[in-house]
Amino acid sequence: MTLGLIGAGRCLAQNPVIAIEAARLIDGTGREPIENAVVLVKGDKIEAVGRRNEVSIPAGAHVIDLGNDTILPGLIDAHAHLTVRPDVRGLQGQLDGMAQPGGQQVLRGVRNIRTQLLSGVTTLYVVGEMRNNDAYMQEAVQAGIIPGPRILPAGVFITTTAGHGPRESRVTNGPWEMRTLVRRNAENGADHVKLTITDRLRAGPRYGAMLAKGESNFTREEIQAAVDEAHRLGLKATAHANGESIRLALEAGIDSIQHGNDLTEELMNLFVKYKKGFVSTYTITFQTFFNEWGFLDNVAGSNQDWNNHVRDVLVRVRRENAPVETAVRARHKDLLQAHRKGIPIAVGTDSMSGLLPLEIENL
Ligand SMILES: [Zn+2]
Repeated sequence: MTLGLIGAGRCLAQNPVIAIEAARLIDGTGREPIENAVVLVKGDKIEAVGRRNEVSIPAGAHVIDLGNDTILPGLIDAHAHLTVRPDVRGLQGQLDGMAQPGGQQVLRGVRNIRTQLLSGVTTLYVVGEMRNNDAYMQEAVQAGIIPGPRILPAGVFITTTAGHGPRESRVTNGPWEMRTLVRRNAENGADHVKLTITDRLRAGPRYGAMLAKGESNFTREEIQAAVDEAHRLGLKATAHANGESIRLALEAGIDSIQHGNDLTEELMNLFVKYKKGFVSTYTITFQTFFNEWGFLDNVAGSNQDWNNHVRDVLVRVRRENAPVETAVRARHKDLLQAHRKGIPIAVGTDSMSGLLPLEIENL
């Protein structure tokens, strides 16, 4: 169960102190949960957190009693796309979405980020949008025009011709073009940059078929140039990378890996060596079976309904598709091994809006 302080602004105007009470609180530090917890909020600051008998609630405070619920810190979606809705067309469906006019994309995005907020997500680490849609949406949230989590924009995907990403972004080639796009993204308000190193669709008459996982679309010097330029400008760089290309990215000084599928013992040891982590994205791997957005739009009464519904769908898909089940089990084994090696693992929805709770369950 999660709590977002939605609408708290109205209470704050009338009363400067809010006391939130709940059966328990998990503070996110790894400490034991606090039973019978109180959180004292003054203005936009948390003043105190503790057991009900340890925190004195000032007279006149606005008390919100959440009963048997659990309070958590705001969640971070570490692989967020704002504007797409994945569907049974898989990656092609996402790319089609990001090829639409900006207005259509952003309108869908407004709904998506509201869903994210209602699932307890308060920060979106964006990993690629087109035409700076993420920066515009960040502005709109900051200005209070639309509800949404804090948005950390990545700007336009950094990818190569015939690489992985929307067609409009597949134009960057060679070290200097990499540097130019990093600079342009920085100028347009990016918080970090995203390189999509692996998983391209086969171009030409065979467009639509995926090339082998782990094959890099970038040369080593292209990755190096993008990472160096990002660092020179004070930005972090993250890379969509699976299999052997993870090595290229880590050796170039990348700050984090997105997905990080097809791990080997050797690749895991590189994560340890370079002290880097990866972002697990579970629900998106079901996208070619996924046609459930109508449930979210028309049936679900809460985000919990949404997660319960999708959980059932995924269980059914796994039961009915042996190769999917095998892949999920293999991935679970890798995640456990990576965790035992002390590799930091974050979670991301990769545009499966509202499903971060399922991503956390999967870990
Ligand atoms: Zn993605």
